Amino acid sequence: MKTVLITGAARGIGRECALLFAKSGYAVAINYNSSENQAKELERLIGPPSVAIKADVSDEAQVRAMFERARAHFGKGFDVIINNAGISLYGLFTDIPLSDFKRLLDVNVCGPVLCCKYGLPYMIERKLGCIINISSVWGICGASCEVHYSVSKAAIIGLTKALAKEVGPSNVTVNCIAPGVIDTDMLSCFSKEEINALKEQTPLGRIGKPEDVAHLALYLASDSARFITGQVISPNGGFVI
Ligand code: NAP
Repeated sequence: MKTVLITGAARGIGRECALLFAKSGYAVAINYNSSENQAKELERLIGPPSVAIKADVSDEAQVRAMFERARAHFGKGFDVIINNAGISLYGLFTDIPLSDFKRLLDVNVCGPVLCCKYGLPYMIERKLGCIINISSVWGICGASCEVHYSVSKAAIIGLTKALAKEVGPSNVTVNCIAPGVIDTDMLSCFSKEEINALKEQTPLGRIGKPEDVAHLALYLASDSARFITGQVISPNGGFVI
């Protein structure tokens, strides 16, 4: 049975990925940090051997312990890692304290770096593996009042491209999904009017659903996508073309 680690899987895009990968036959490690009840509920819904594992992805000791626990539980490492956990930061560039930016980088950049660090040895040893990093359209084109978030998501694109070159010879693919606006809790800082304005700016006339991202992730993890690496693919309804 193939194994997948999905970080931040209790809610939003990560939850949808967990449901879809489980439905497609994967054993899922449902990582969570604060949403314990939702993670345990999802664990029950999906059923064994999938398992919920708590870890703050910005903390190296917790990430290491998560990989050790998963390896003991599944009896093997991860075939697929989806670095999905992330936080947003909204405000005027000059108003954001450096400490908030450092926390953002710890979660959005160090988190994926750590999960790649602890997940890659198994993939390299087997000469097979797939890493999917969740960035954002803002990592491609930048967003006003989300400058720090855009920086963190641009870093994920750099991580994807460079790591794809380093581990390609070991037959490990590393790709990036850069979603447009997706209907999750992350949009809670936007008013209804702002969401409607975003819909109007989108050629397909709607904002995205978590499924729009999950189906792409499942494809990138499939055997049909073994020649795709180092790429940034953006499900965004045409918002950025
Ligand atoms: P969400 O509903 O707010 O979910 C965020 C997830 O990240 C939660 O499951 C949360 O887990 C997890 N997380 C946050 N900090 C964590 C930490 N330190 N350690 C482990 N997990 C942590 O947001 P979402 O929209 O699904 O976002 C998922 C990813 O997509 C993020 O990387 C986000 O930047 C990206 N994205 C979202 C959009 C959008 O419009 N929604 C667009 C582009 C990109 P807990 O609740 O357990 O703490």
